[in-house]
Amino acid sequence: MRKVDKLGRIVIPRELRKKYGLNEGTAVEFQDSGFGVTIRAQNCFCRICNRPVTGAEALPLCNGCIMKAVMMYEKEKNG
Ligand SMILES: [Zn+2]
Repeated sequence: MRKVDKLGRIVIPRELRKKYGLNEGTAVEFQDSGFGVTIRAQNCFCRICNRPVTGAEALPLCNGCIMKAVMMYEKEKNG
């Protein structure tokens, strides 16, 4: 359990920061689901399938979707 401090801040557990690429300076947005609050790093979810992007990728796409795009491109190119 984490406690919110008097300025409304909380510490995000290290393992979650690592998993979702929440590094220092990462812009995040808060979403009110009606049941709680979801914190999402901007550009941290694949634009196609919405899977979390680790941050290692240069594009806001997961490796799976990047591979699919590359395969489609290759198929197109080779007729
Ligand atoms: Zn994807």
